[in-house]
Amino acid sequence: MKENHMHHPHASMAQLYLPRRVGGRGLLNLTDLCRGQEAGLRDYFLKKDLPIHKGYTPLFLSEEDHGFEKTTLQSRLDEWSMKSLHGQFHATLQKDNIDVEASMTWLQKGTLFPETEGFILAIQDHVVATNNYQKYILMENISNKCCFCGTITESIQHTIDGCPVLSYSEYLHRHNNITKIIHQQFAKDNGLFREETPHFKYQPTRIHEKDGVKIYWDEPIATDHTVAHNRPDILVLDRKNKRADIIDIAIPNDKNYNIGEKEHEKIMKYQDLKMEIEKLWKVRVEVIPVVIGAVGAVTKKHDSIKKIDESIWLEDFQKTALLGTARIVQNVLQLHN
Ligand SMILES: [Zn+2]
Repeated sequence: MKENHMHHPHASMAQLYLPRRVGGRGLLNLTDLCRGQEAGLRDYFLKKDLPIHKGYTPLFLSEEDHGFEKTTLQSRLDEWSMKSLHGQFHATLQKDNIDVEASMTWLQKGTLFPETEGFILAIQDHVVATNNYQKYILMENISNKCCFCGTITESIQHTIDGCPVLSYSEYLHRHNNITKIIHQQFAKDNGLFREETPHFKYQPTRIHEKDGVKIYWDEPIATDHTVAHNRPDILVLDRKNKRADIIDIAIPNDKNYNIGEKEHEKIMKYQDLKMEIEKLWKVRVEVIPVVIGAVGAVTKKHDSIKKIDESIWLEDFQKTALLGTARIVQNVLQLHN
């Protein structure tokens, strides 16, 4: 797997043999399987007391100690969590509000190329060669500052979510790709077009209107009283059903930023706009935050995504966020060469 770039040389080995639902690659461990078979055979011969040459078989039947301890799921999780770099994503997953299995939806579906999957796990494991990693882990004599902004330490967290230079280009691009999935689904539902376009080619128009449904994309909403935040990513007004949804998307760094806090922050941010619209348009308004960690983690409230549209899948959002993150890290690594 290392030779074929499917597993980063410094990424966690324990994760290779953990089930995908908890964040592993789900491989069988041949050593464990072999030792298990040997233990079974030893038990069989010893219990039957068969006339065999006890000293000469590979089962070492003449030896007193035949203890065999199977590697358990917990022991592998412990091995993963105890590593200072690898264990950081594991620690994020242990937070109360994180839904571990849902955070691993993309991994369980397994639709990314193994090389991409391996690269994303290396990012989660904090072992990609950022300047900070090269300086302090690989002990190279280089500056640990970010190759884009030049002022902040180039850690993996900084690269995937914290660089001011990448904010209006790379992070916005990753963010907009998720916005486009949602927008395109609404446009399809409302008969605005039939053909599906890959989201990276899709360009939403700022305001779409058909049969009493109006979709605003990144458009300021005019209200009677001025509100501080009047430009959500998407606003859908459904006059027939007297409702409107304010949808806002964030892809924060899983580690430093509590994803749950970000969801709450989004809901609070649009309360004034919600009240203004309710008065103005006489509709019921809901604020729906879509918060996906930059390396895939989601909270137990991720189900709210289904309120947006039944045809929208968490996996698609995760894949879009993860591929965006992988692209950003790849670009940074290429600049180093
Ligand atoms: Zn930077």
